[in-house]
Amino acid sequence: KTTLFWFRRDLRLEDNTGLYYALQQEHNVLPLFIFDSNILDLLEEKKDARVEFIHREILNIKAELEKKGGSLLMKYGKPEELFPKLLEEFEVESVYTNRDYEPYAKDRDKKIEKLLKAKSVSFFAFKDQVIFEPGEILNGSGEFYKVFTPFSKTWLDKFKESQVEPLGEPTWKNLKKTDPLQEISLRDMGFEKSGIEIPPRVADKDLISHYDQTRNFPAKNGTSRLGIHLRFGTISIRKLAKTAYSLNDTYLNELIWREFYMMILGYNPQVVDHAFKPAYDQIPWRNNEEEFQAWCEGKTGYPIVDAGMRELNTTGYMHNRVRMIVASFLTKHLLIDWRWGEAYFAKKLLDFELASNNGGWQWAAGTGTDAQPYFRVFNPESQTEKFDKDLKYIKKWVPELGTSKYPKPIVDHKFARQRALDTYKKALDQ
Ligand code: FAD
Repeated sequence: KTTLFWFRRDLRLEDNTGLYYALQQEHNVLPLFIFDSNILDLLEEKKDARVEFIHREILNIKAELEKKGGSLLMKYGKPEELFPKLLEEFEVESVYTNRDYEPYAKDRDKKIEKLLKAKSVSFFAFKDQVIFEPGEILNGSGEFYKVFTPFSKTWLDKFKESQVEPLGEPTWKNLKKTDPLQEISLRDMGFEKSGIEIPPRVADKDLISHYDQTRNFPAKNGTSRLGIHLRFGTISIRKLAKTAYSLNDTYLNELIWREFYMMILGYNPQVVDHAFKPAYDQIPWRNNEEEFQAWCEGKTGYPIVDAGMRELNTTGYMHNRVRMIVASFLTKHLLIDWRWGEAYFAKKLLDFELASNNGGWQWAAGTGTDAQPYFRVFNPESQTEKFDKDLKYIKKWVPELGTSKYPKPIVDHKFARQRALDTYKKALDQ
């Protein structure tokens, strides 16, 4: 008899809640990872750095497990089709995993749980990717918070009370003893290496200590670049939150934003394709394809916008300050639907996270959770003046700035600002 531990977005051996409890409570624990073709089939680009990253991490974990006398079962396909076969092949008694709050994942887990129950196999899912999951931080009336600040206060109080600690060493002797199991290559799944570098998995204490002073300047190495590691669980949120709590409140606050948006998505799955504030679904987006293309390619003639888009296209990363600027520019200056921008980021960002990406875009478009947002139209010039005064970031990505090769502004700022305000007002007054 076997217990399966199913890895998903928790790709690490240390402080992995579901894995820890599987090894504590069961014998013959066989770790499993499924390259889910329901998800992978949606990716048009076959040189996807995120798939490459997951694959690399899975092979590392497999090698680590093999040093301990176990292995890792790698599968490629649809979980709902693979599980019935796995149950028979391994005489599975129970399945352990960590919870995931995205709509697709919740739906998938419901299906799998049903399928397992029908065969009398137990299913245990644990909280792992967050300090507090949707439902744990509620207001005085027991409802979810619609704005960030009170959410963050309650979050912080509860964090201080609960003294979150990483878990200790798992009971490795309960791993299922096996010869190394078969590998699946990237190529087997139709993917290739991307050539894009993944930021290291290091919570740099010095950087985090100064984060509040450096975080807004895209030319500085002033943010942690841990987004992809948080996305796939290659670092533990408990460890990182503990570090942040001891070193820098502003950094901890960003980790709270991450959980705020996960909570918003958890309670409001409709935000995936609708404005959080329903009235904002009325905005008549211009959706000009050529302008969208110019934005994607970093050819709008607004240097800070173009720098950001080129950074994204080349590295899979964009600084948060610049994400806000380019998103505001697309939705307000060009009046292009935030969902277009969101989808483009989803394709390109190494740290793409459905909840934060949707939250970030809705924030920029003014359709999301803040109080009075639509008047906020970022002025690219004054943002540059504040955050990239000596043009260091811009010149890195837009070396032809100031030459005849650089495009003229795609739209006049003053005109575009007024057009956005008028369009929003008209749509919301209806
Ligand atoms: P740091 O500044 O070092 O912050 C540490 C961690 O805190 C981040 O890795 C992230 O997990 C979390 N965090 C920081 N800021 C935010 C925030 N505003 N909202 C939620 N979590 C935050 N973040 C994503 O993780 N995935 C996305 O797909 C994503 N899309 C975005 C789209 C737009 C339009 C905007 C404005 C923001 C988006 N963000 C997204 C939030 C933020 O820009 C990134 O988390 C951050 O830039 C990642 O870089 P870092 O790892 O160096 O972050």
